[in-house]
Amino acid sequence: MVDLSKKFDVLVIGGGNAALCAAISARRAGASVLVLEGAPKFYRGGNTRHTRNMRCAHDTATGILTGPYTEEEFWDDLLRLTGGQTDEELAKFMIAESKDILNWIVEQGVRWQPSLGGTLSLGRTNSFFLGGGRAMLNALYLTAEKLGVEIVYDAEVTDLQIEDGMFLSAKLKHPITGAAEIRASALVAAAGGFEANIEWLKEYWGEAADNFLIRGTPYNRGSILKMLLAKGVQDIGDPTQCHAVAIDARAPKFDGGIITRHDSVVFGIVVNKHAQRFYDEGEDIWPKRYAIWGRLVAAQPDQIAYIIFDASVRNSFMPTLFPPIEGATIAELAGKLELDPAALETTISEFNAAVQPGTFDHTILDDCTTEGITPPKTHWARRIETAPYLAYPVRPGITFTYLGTRVNKQSRMVMKDGKPSANMFAAGEIMAGNVLGKGYAAGIGMTIGSVFGRVAGREAARNAKN
Ligand SMILES: Cc1cc2nc3c(=O)[nH]c(=O)nc-3n(C[C@H](O)[C@H](O)[C@H](O)COP(=O)(O)OP(=O)(O)OC[C@H]3O[C@@H](n4cnc5c(N)ncnc54)[C@H](O)[C@@H]3O)c2cc1C
Repeated sequence: MVDLSKKFDVLVIGGGNAALCAAISARRAGASVLVLEGAPKFYRGGNTRHTRNMRCAHDTATGILTGPYTEEEFWDDLLRLTGGQTDEELAKFMIAESKDILNWIVEQGVRWQPSLGGTLSLGRTNSFFLGGGRAMLNALYLTAEKLGVEIVYDAEVTDLQIEDGMFLSAKLKHPITGAAEIRASALVAAAGGFEANIEWLKEYWGEAADNFLIRGTPYNRGSILKMLLAKGVQDIGDPTQCHAVAIDARAPKFDGGIITRHDSVVFGIVVNKHAQRFYDEGEDIWPKRYAIWGRLVAAQPDQIAYIIFDASVRNSFMPTLFPPIEGATIAELAGKLELDPAALETTISEFNAAVQPGTFDHTILDDCTTEGITPPKTHWARRIETAPYLAYPVRPGITFTYLGTRVNKQSRMVMKDGKPSANMFAAGEIMAGNVLGKGYAAGIGMTIGSVFGRVAGREAARNAKN
């Protein structure tokens, strides 16, 4: 039983990658550390449980990475994908620090495995966790426990006492021990974004947010972020920006994870509930386009869409948890999807008539295109004509939000007046907006958590000791 009446050097709020990296780093720097994880033990680890890989800079191939990925290339990628909406100094700092993380995380017990072949073309840039995010977390928890980090589960923090930018204490709500006041010399906030808070999402997306599915933990409700912003911490990032992909409409409301994502868009067409196409399905290669489809579907009536393809391509992409819905004819398929059969038949016959001859190759921007329809399908356009006809219903799947707390290179929160907080630090999703103004590159969420978690823990320990 953890003695919650004593004053800790460092309090870490959250139980995912950023929190654990911070806790381990603070403890290794000699601090007494308490981790408060809002979720029950079985669900510990937030969105980190669902992860597979992390993007780090490296100058040469490693045992598991097939070639170099320099700091310059990482920076070029980040600049392009955010359209310049990133804090250059902080982003370059993160990229430089990421080099060391590849080994540091192994020293904390995490193991790597070679990239899964043929999926996302990440074998050179991203290191995959052996056993996935849960195994990664188990290793970090084990290390933290061995080092003497104290951990409480089911430990939702419901209030923070902050005066003039200085953290004093946190209010804890626990189902068995009840309420408690937790005192610490320094705070690390690593409590994720607000993606699981539908009411908060509605402030920016309106009623449409009721139809969003949340790919990760229901515990990331943004309560700590909201408290910090209300108590004088400067915000960063556009509240409407988030990482959102198209996931199967039959997925659960929360925690569906990676297995619900559809990667079949380029092999067919996508229609809305009026059986109309609305975007070029072949605009660019899939790893560069998958993350726009969540927003595209969110903009459609009732936030629902259908990927339509035929039997000739059904084994061409990674399957998901859900089987496609089948029809022997297009009209039968439309009936099962509750779409107007005549409208779907017209859309498909117009599309088929617009398809030009070409040589199909989904790994390059091939010459299979349409002519005379709007929107066009600029690559990989092939006629949909081989029964049975197939479909996946999709909805926006929200991964995480970008609104966060502004931090400096010490991971120290910056207050609204521009001054650094006396003793408050942040790491992970809760401050991702400093680096990610918009856009996303696979594996960068874990880079943000590991780099800034490690820095935040070290700096919080130093702060507490002085
Ligand atoms: C399906 C899916 C797949 C993904 N795959 C990848 C991937 O392969 N690579 C990658 O880089 N990123 C991936 N991401 C993104 C990645 O999960 C996040 O960027 C990363 O895990 C964030 O880590 P974190 O520690 O900041 O937050 P989290 O891991 O989400 O942890 C937040 C923690 O805060 C706790 N918490 C929240 N509120 C409170 C409170 N009031 N009191 C106490 N505790 C609280 C939660 O319980 C949780 O433990 C994926 C996300 C999803 C949903």
